[in-house]
Amino acid sequence: MYALHYLRNLGFSVRVLETGEDVGGTWYWNRYPGARCDVASLEYSYQFSEELQQQWRWSEKYAAQAEILEYANHVADRFDLRRDIRFNTRVSAMHFIAANAGANNRGSGGGDNWRITADNGEIFQAQFCIMATGCLSSCNIPDFPGLDDFEGPLLHTGKWPHREVDFAGRRVGMIGTGSSAIQIAPLIAPQADSLTIFQRTASYSIPAHNATMDADHERTIKADYARFRAQNSQRYAALDNNPNSLSALEVSAAERESSYQQRWEAGGLPFLASFNDLATSLDANKTAAEFIRRKIRGIVKDPIVAELLCPQTVMGCKRLCVDSDYYQTFNRDNVSLVDVNACPIERITSAGLETAEKEYKFDILIMATGFDAMTGALLGIDIRGRQGLSLQEKWRHGPKNYLGLSVHGFPNFFTITGPGSPSVLANMIVAIEQHVEWIGDCLQQLRANSVSTIEASSQAEARWVRLVNKIANKTLFPSGCNSWYTGANIPGKPRIFMPYLGYPSYVEKCEQVASNGYHGFELRSL
Ligand code: NAP
Repeated sequence: MYALHYLRNLGFSVRVLETGEDVGGTWYWNRYPGARCDVASLEYSYQFSEELQQQWRWSEKYAAQAEILEYANHVADRFDLRRDIRFNTRVSAMHFIAANAGANNRGSGGGDNWRITADNGEIFQAQFCIMATGCLSSCNIPDFPGLDDFEGPLLHTGKWPHREVDFAGRRVGMIGTGSSAIQIAPLIAPQADSLTIFQRTASYSIPAHNATMDADHERTIKADYARFRAQNSQRYAALDNNPNSLSALEVSAAERESSYQQRWEAGGLPFLASFNDLATSLDANKTAAEFIRRKIRGIVKDPIVAELLCPQTVMGCKRLCVDSDYYQTFNRDNVSLVDVNACPIERITSAGLETAEKEYKFDILIMATGFDAMTGALLGIDIRGRQGLSLQEKWRHGPKNYLGLSVHGFPNFFTITGPGSPSVLANMIVAIEQHVEWIGDCLQQLRANSVSTIEASSQAEARWVRLVNKIANKTLFPSGCNSWYTGANIPGKPRIFMPYLGYPSYVEKCEQVASNGYHGFELRSL
């Protein structure tokens, strides 16, 4: 949406192709009960328009899905975006056609072009393609035997029905215990006859302590919103997380406990910034992990269930979850937890599912099983660059690109918050705005200098991939767990840590590249 607005203002002709019936992306699809952002509303919102950020009023500290979707609709109306968005249009193929490709390029105006095919057969031509396909948009539905046999509704959190789902009196089964499951469980449990949750890996979750928007806080931020944004953009992940510059190991046990306790009471993702070495020192990390496990044991009354809910992986290695009464939900009589490591799911049946131990009967089955993250949506399209090179082939051993923005062999092709950029490890809206502005400014430069194509050089790409890995390998992220950051949640997916760790240093690098004549890119003029 912002790319459309920004590029349009630069005088480009822009067309957006969108699978959904309307705007909103993640917030259009993930409409399950309890869906809510884990970044504070005053931060998880556009800053490109001062009037917009001043006038929009968030009702809660953390906005719920419906409110964020309302915001997206407001932005679409306010900036008259819909007239250039083609909804209900899923792109199935994108092929680069070089200017000298002769007959194949007929009707494209003679220059290099992308030919984009939608699954309804419609064909579009564009000089530049910007992939805003999302990091968590391609649903992961594990290939359980008998998946099609289930006779009741089988719902994935990432593709939730538009109608209200009635859980009253229903026996509900849910597979998965990541962020989505943690949000939905406390909402379903009070309505359902029973809720059975199948857990493979326990997650660390911090209470959200969500509340209605504090009017004083809102007024203070809005009095100098630009300063608030600028301050956050200098912080790790572009979040207002009040980072502690001390190591968890250089303070006394009492100070450490007090610091964790304060963060627990404040709630949310800033818990990760309790100390400066939680992502790099296993010993430091263990202190935070043990603190959270103690909290879980204090909340969950049944000691066997509490132990099962205690995560044993590195804290924060998988995306930290933020909840409202998740652990408390297990104190209800109608909620049960099944450890699928001890009792693997063997098959889905017409009436529920079978584990190695017993058969479960459900009226509704929920897959809270996450996404083929970061690369899934891109690789779901048949994308071919120069000489027919397919992105699927190029990324067979993991994504390769430069700055997370551009792929060698794929000219005039950009990825917004692609693998190799901070994306999911930053405030997403801030990361998106930075990418949109960098790409828009780049296109403007190309136009001013009559450059017809731009793409990453293979050397710059190789150096960037090495850097992304080098930085990741200094942390606990690659080895501490099987996270979607590494593709480990998808059978057969190459295991490689995909995001670039380091916002705001990443922004500086992007700016240096642009001011050095797009160093590391190959620019060609017709
Ligand atoms: P997720 O974190 O990937 O969780 C998926 C869950 O399904 C995991 O517990 C996983 O277990 C389980 N699972 C997957 N395949 C399975 C199988 N074959 N058998 C048993 N269990 C299986 O997905 P998500 O909860 O949808 O969240 C994805 C990301 O979306 C989050 O990390 C976050 O970035 C974002 N999100 C954010 C919010 C928010 O803003 N509050 C809310 C929802 C989602 P394993 O852990 O063992 O793989």
